[in-house]
Amino acid sequence: MEEVRVFPLTCAVQNYAWGKAGLDSEVARLVVGGEPLAVIEEKPYAELWMGAHPKGDAQIKDNRITQTTLGQWIAHYPACLGSKVKDAFQGQLPFLFKVLSVNTALSIQAHPNKDLAARLHAQFPEHYPDTNHKPEMAIALTRFQGLCGFRPVEEILAFLQRVPEFHALVGNEAAEELRRSVGDDARTSQALKKCFTRMMSCEKKVFVDELNELVKRVTEEGAAGKDTSSSNGELLLRLHSQYPGDIGCFSIYFLNYVVLEPGQAMFLGANEPHAYIYGDCIECMACSDNTVRAGLTRKYIDVNTLCEMLNYSPAPASSKIFACVQDPSDPCVTVYDPPVPDFTVIKIQVPASVKEYTVAPVDSASILLVIEGDAMVTAPAAHSDITMRRGTVLFVSANESLSLHVSSPSGMVLFRACSLL
Ligand SMILES: [Zn+2]
Repeated sequence: MEEVRVFPLTCAVQNYAWGKAGLDSEVARLVVGGEPLAVIEEKPYAELWMGAHPKGDAQIKDNRITQTTLGQWIAHYPACLGSKVKDAFQGQLPFLFKVLSVNTALSIQAHPNKDLAARLHAQFPEHYPDTNHKPEMAIALTRFQGLCGFRPVEEILAFLQRVPEFHALVGNEAAEELRRSVGDDARTSQALKKCFTRMMSCEKKVFVDELNELVKRVTEEGAAGKDTSSSNGELLLRLHSQYPGDIGCFSIYFLNYVVLEPGQAMFLGANEPHAYIYGDCIECMACSDNTVRAGLTRKYIDVNTLCEMLNYSPAPASSKIFACVQDPSDPCVTVYDPPVPDFTVIKIQVPASVKEYTVAPVDSASILLVIEGDAMVTAPAAHSDITMRRGTVLFVSANESLSLHVSSPSGMVLFRACSLL
């Protein structure tokens, strides 16, 4: 028989402690849609990994295929990647596609570019496991909250003025330098770096005392019915309840608070500080584990590397929303195409009126996830029909098209990850 080039996958679930519990989690709800899985009510379902990463290589759900996992299959049939992708990424699937369900904040972090990743890996392989960069894109499935990039300087200066505990960690000199830098972008970046580095380098006893003071003050003001927004009080107390005594609680005065509505995205390029706070999203990233942390974590914080690498370009929260584009040739398709070759995410929204839909071929292997709807899929390279429903994940080899015969009355929503070189 000819080789099967389109097949369903059973994907790895990661039960990290920060995930939403039981059926509150979109990850759990999706997996239940595709598989008989007994969801445990109190258990966190944090991430669904759709890819060939060695820590969560997807299982192939087609008993005509002898390989067990996607990684093994790609190693055997690297042509499935598409010739350009195969050459550019040494026969590896260049991306890891995920669904995340975030209940408590993930660490504030940034990811190195390729040069820095290679240097860090050579110096500290225990903290930086590979030589690759790790650009990431998050697309909201539910209202999604995060921190991303440095705030406009005016906002940081306002917090320095109104939050004395924050001012104490930054210090008079650095704060004054930031104030005087306004209007000169190069000087502002330098001053911002100095302010952030001062804060991150504070001794633990100092910042824990200031944080306790701040939390006490904001709690009392809140109890007295006062508006605490000038101290970003609501977010402060929320993060502090999750990470008491953590330096990351102060980062809310430096970083933009970004809220994505469903379908909106943020792209996290190299050196962009960010944290996910709450919500469900689709995520796609280059295959790497290189993360430099800045707080809201019990893991290792490499303050020197972090403060050196960050992108100190202040910009408003609204500028952090990544612009997706409508495909001019297909009104069902929205493309999220970040400025990196490793991945592109495509949203396919089939309206209720369309019953026959063709998923176009691309010159890249892709992974397709069904978020909503049912269909029978005919693909010549599948050698038999495949049933698609909420939670179904398909691997599609390069240059294969799929014909969907939609059976759900309200249409379908799918997300597809691929590499459009
Ligand atoms: Zn990240």
